[in-house]
Amino acid sequence: MVQVVNSNSFKGISPIDLMEATYQASGNFQIRAFFEAKDEILKAGKFSENQFYRILDAMVDAETERKLILERLKDKNPLFLEEIVKEIKDFPADNIIRDVIYLKEQGYVQEHVEVKTKMVVKKIKGEEKEVEVKEYFYRYQAKEQPIEHYFEPVTIVFNAGVCCQCGWCSSICPVNAIELTADTLEVDNDTCMKCGLCFSVCPRSFSIDQAYKSIKKLDKSLTWSDKIGAYINTYTATTTKDEIKEVRQDGGIVTSILEYLLKNKLVDAIVAVKHSKDIWRPEPIIIDDIKDLYETGGTKYANSPSLNIISDAKKYDKIAFVGVPCMMKAIEKGVLFPSGLPFFNNIKYKIGLFCMESFPYSEIIKLTKDKFDKEIDQLTKMNIDKGKFIINLKSGEELSVDLKEVQSYARDNCHFCEDLTSDYADISVGSIGSQAGFSSVITRTKDGDKLFNKVVKAGLIETKSLKEVKPGQGLLERIAGVKRNKCKAIELHSK
Ligand SMILES: Cc1cc2nc3c(=O)[nH]c(=O)nc-3n(C[C@H](O)[C@H](O)[C@H](O)COP(=O)(O)OP(=O)(O)OC[C@H]3O[C@@H](n4cnc5c(N)ncnc54)[C@H](O)[C@@H]3O)c2cc1C
Ligand code: SF4
Ligand code: SF4
Ligand code: SF4
Repeated sequence: MVQVVNSNSFKGISPIDLMEATYQASGNFQIRAFFEAKDEILKAGKFSENQFYRILDAMVDAETERKLILERLKDKNPLFLEEIVKEIKDFPADNIIRDVIYLKEQGYVQEHVEVKTKMVVKKIKGEEKEVEVKEYFYRYQAKEQPIEHYFEPVTIVFNAGVCCQCGWCSSICPVNAIELTADTLEVDNDTCMKCGLCFSVCPRSFSIDQAYKSIKKLDKSLTWSDKIGAYINTYTATTTKDEIKEVRQDGGIVTSILEYLLKNKLVDAIVAVKHSKDIWRPEPIIIDDIKDLYETGGTKYANSPSLNIISDAKKYDKIAFVGVPCMMKAIEKGVLFPSGLPFFNNIKYKIGLFCMESFPYSEIIKLTKDKFDKEIDQLTKMNIDKGKFIINLKSGEELSVDLKEVQSYARDNCHFCEDLTSDYADISVGSIGSQAGFSSVITRTKDGDKLFNKVVKAGLIETKSLKEVKPGQGLLERIAGVKRNKCKAIELHSK
């Protein structure tokens, strides 16, 4: 039974008009489910009444826009996303692209994929060779007889073994129906209202790679790379602060940026990870006091479902979030879908780490024992560098094994990940490409580039172009390309 909306605070639109608009659009099951569960959503306490209406309003707007776009696509030949943007001028390009992808996922639009091969010259083991490479072209066309798809809760992603355990679905779920840890995910079917919001924001549900590429290519101020994504600048950099050098993983760039943000009140809090009571098991943490910042320094190679705590950080107006590439993509999906309205619009800066793979905590303990015959609490640092997995011990000793030897301990779902360098971040930071004690930095958005330059200007970081140093950007692009090429395709099956 649908209830009458009763809010005076809602953008000056009368409750009756809103209900009418909702009904017009509620062929969309997500809007209907969300609207009908208003009481349960408010009782769950994650979103206020005002936020509930803001989300609903954005969902209705997006659905109306989609319907109009679909009309305009009728009787047209298959078009590239860029051609659709030129064809339909009524909406911003980003909206059109995101809407076409969503319409495809809902079963209204057909995606046509064309594969072409071309010969390129590549340097293989020092020798130049001509090799064949495949290029993919995607065109979109309105289906004559659409078959509407219903998004299911994210159990379908978890059960397929491809969940990267980012934690975003559980933060987003309006009725708190998702229980998640670093290894498990459960949906409470009695509480779940089948809105499918978790599925639409999940980085492992449907791909947004085509949308991302097309949107970024429209911005001529960005450089595009098929391997490391869109960027403004690339650097190699190191911190100037001795205290940060004590706790850092590589160049201490992440901690330097976070310190600048907190000190200059550009954010109220940051979300990062620290060691939990079990050493080397990462624990997501919200930090609003600079004195606690240094406990986050250094890499913990076990995965951390850090996005899970974003809903706890909602009391802060502005936050910075640090995480791995799958989390950066998750946040982007939470902005694009289902409504173009970020669920948590307090995430002001996304600091993305490079990531080839992560490990379950239990496997980190196991590999330390199997490969080095050491207990985990003897370690002061773990690192992956130049094809080696390296550990440093309290005794001062450094031990290493070939990275290939530890790969069987990594999480299986990381094999479905194509992104090494956090394409969707404002600033990406990793070690590949830079010398020891330095980080490679990619600035990707205007806000990210501006922030990085401020931190440099404040004297907290020393930097050079990544293109001027060895092994530099060439190596980074090569390894990022390898990760994309070996990424497995995700296949999801409905019940
Ligand atoms: C699982 C994982 C795998 C990685 N793999 C690679 C790789 O293959 N190649 C590469 O070049 N770089 C990789 N990195 C990034 C690299 O290890 C450094 O984090 C990066 O170079 C930044 O160094 P820094 O000295 O600037 O960071 P620091 O100043 O030391 O700060 C580190 C930051 O990382 C955050 N962090 C630590 N562990 C985690 C975690 N498990 N999840 C989320 N955030 C975390 C901390 O909160 C902290 O804010 C990986 C990082 C992680 C977490
Ligand atoms: S579990 Fe997913 S489908 Fe169910 S209520 Fe939460 S967000 Fe909606
Ligand atoms: S949103 Fe993240 S945690 Fe949730 S199912 Fe998708 S990948 Fe897993
Ligand atoms: S490899 Fe990908 S899926 Fe695995 S932790 Fe890193 S970013 Fe996430």
